[in-house]
Amino acid sequence: MKTVAPGATIGILGGGQLGRMMAMAAAQLGYCTHVYAPEPRGESVAAHVSAAYTQGAYDDETALAAFAAQVAVVTYEFENVAAAPLGAMASHAPLFPPARALEVAQDRVNEKSFVEQLGGTPAPWMQVDGPADLARAVATIGTPGILKTRRDGYDGKGQWRILSADEAQGLDLPAVPLIYEGFVQFFGEFSVILVRAQDGDVRFWDSAQNVHEDGILARSTLPAPADIAAQVPAARALAQKVAQALDYVGVLTLEFFATANGPVFNEMAPRVHNSGHWSIEGALASQFENHVRAILGLPLGSTGLVTAGAVMDNLIGDAADAWPQLLADPAAHLHLYGKAETRPGRKMGHVTRLVTRLVK
Ligand code: AMP
Repeated sequence: MKTVAPGATIGILGGGQLGRMMAMAAAQLGYCTHVYAPEPRGESVAAHVSAAYTQGAYDDETALAAFAAQVAVVTYEFENVAAAPLGAMASHAPLFPPARALEVAQDRVNEKSFVEQLGGTPAPWMQVDGPADLARAVATIGTPGILKTRRDGYDGKGQWRILSADEAQGLDLPAVPLIYEGFVQFFGEFSVILVRAQDGDVRFWDSAQNVHEDGILARSTLPAPADIAAQVPAARALAQKVAQALDYVGVLTLEFFATANGPVFNEMAPRVHNSGHWSIEGALASQFENHVRAILGLPLGSTGLVTAGAVMDNLIGDAADAWPQLLADPAAHLHLYGKAETRPGRKMGHVTRLVTRLVK
């Protein structure tokens, strides 16, 4: 294990709020950050809190190599980056989590097959490369179901609910690889968030109950109700196998549906996750701090709770306009991401409220 001492610079691929919160955690430990993203510097909310910025395409090998030459280690906050061009950085700086984690997680067929090989259970699924495939998938799996793009989907984007075979027939399919999934009858959703160090040490944060609205995470609540908590051990066992199989370093998230038949795997993210934002105030070490510690070869901080419970609400679209009222609650931890333009469905910030226990 190679330890990178404070003072060094961490390279972050991706310029959004996850990179911003990573950069803030890195700064606390005495590290600088250099963000690499395709948008102009002024549009990257991670760049606002980072010492250096490179504007470049994710497949520009020359620019990636020049970026990697200026940093001690490279990580990413965004998984829709092609893995192959990242090889151009290899002779300059290590990449954590490994590129293989990106390859698996960025393609819904790869991630579901990978998890099945490790004994996990996803929703019934079939690959769809055209109308005939869709008709076959709907006939085999049934309706209702969800048609999703294999790649580049996030926050419910690139998804179509299909309620009947007739509806499937009338669809004008996008010309990209797709996957059809049976609709899972779940009574709750939760995620397992773990951190794995370079020496294989693995720690889990408590699993929150996640509620989505329009495919976007709206609220994470801790502790999760007992019927969800009962499914966490099996879900953790799967997440740990995934981390080991990938020789993973950093924070890894697996999302699950809690069903009458146990946890059903939904998807994985090879990165810090929105459903772990409560950990900034609610855990001894946040997901951002432990991600930074892991990629730098530092000992991990405790993932233990400092609170009896927590509620994290996303501020989506114009919800962040209520910042004066949110700040008026002296116990609310308000996080605004500094995005200049408000758009419907855009994550503008979040607010965390801890449920504290009185200590006598
Ligand atoms: P995803 O982007 O695939 O995580 O989907 C976003 C949200 O859509 C999930 O958190 C669920 O609330 C819902 N969803 C996605 N896939 C399914 C499914 N197969 N069955 C039921 N709900 C789903």
